Amino acid sequence: MSAAPPIMAVQNVVKRFGGFTALNDVTTSFAAGRLTSVIGPNGAGKSTFFNVLSGSFPPTEGRVFFNGTDITGTPQHKLAHMGIAKSFQITSLFPKLTVQENVRIAAQAMRSRFGLWQPRSALNLSDAVEALLLRVGLQDRRHESVDTLAHGQQRSLEIAVALACEPKLLLLDEPTAGMSPEEAREMMDLILKLNAERTVILVEHRMKLVMGISDRIVVLHHGTLLAEGTADDIRRHDEVKRVYLGQ
Ligand code: ADP
Ligand code: MG
Repeated sequence: MSAAPPIMAVQNVVKRFGGFTALNDVTTSFAAGRLTSVIGPNGAGKSTFFNVLSGSFPPTEGRVFFNGTDITGTPQHKLAHMGIAKSFQITSLFPKLTVQENVRIAAQAMRSRFGLWQPRSALNLSDAVEALLLRVGLQDRRHESVDTLAHGQQRSLEIAVALACEPKLLLLDEPTAGMSPEEAREMMDLILKLNAERTVILVEHRMKLVMGISDRIVVLHHGTLLAEGTADDIRRHDEVKRVYLGQ
């Protein structure tokens, strides 16, 4: 559908946990600049796929490529350095610190942990923190302690933390988990804005939520790639309809 070169690709990826095959021979790619959603029912293998893409663990078989470079088995901190950031279902925030302190720690960590890391923007630390707070709409909450924030705001803050390394690719695993419909809509708006500046791969089990915003949708089912295409392709896909109606 598009001529944009893939920023990320997987070839024949298999992931086994003991005798259980969670991903079975998945081959696909993700175009640069686009918003791709990986959907599928609970247990389909979405988080496992996300973990393979983000380097949390290597696939049992197959290869993972980032901008044409084989990154199979590359540890996460190196991937962060290369421009891949992710945000998890499991929180990684410091709950007793303020919003601003959390963002500052993330931005500072990038600068000190990777001596060679060059911020792509010319901003100093304070300006970078300010830009991140503005980006996710938390500038008015900067002095509040994280544990007093609404759930949706905590998720936005996690994204600000993930953005501290100025990623070219942002990976999000169910960022709307546990959110109210209103919070979920706001999160989708934020994701669209973030996608204007970088490639986004979004993992989500609710098909309806991502239909309106995704350039492309990849459907996993029982660890296999069931379908991929535009929202219209996916809506019309007989097997996808069967899987989702069966829920
Ligand atoms: P999803 O995110 O689509 O809900 P997951 O990728 O979390 O699905 O899980 C896919 C399947 O792999 C599930 O059956 C799950 O129980 C299994 N699984 C995931 N992680 C592990 C693990 N660490 N050890 C064993 N089985 C796992
Ligand atoms: Mg999951």
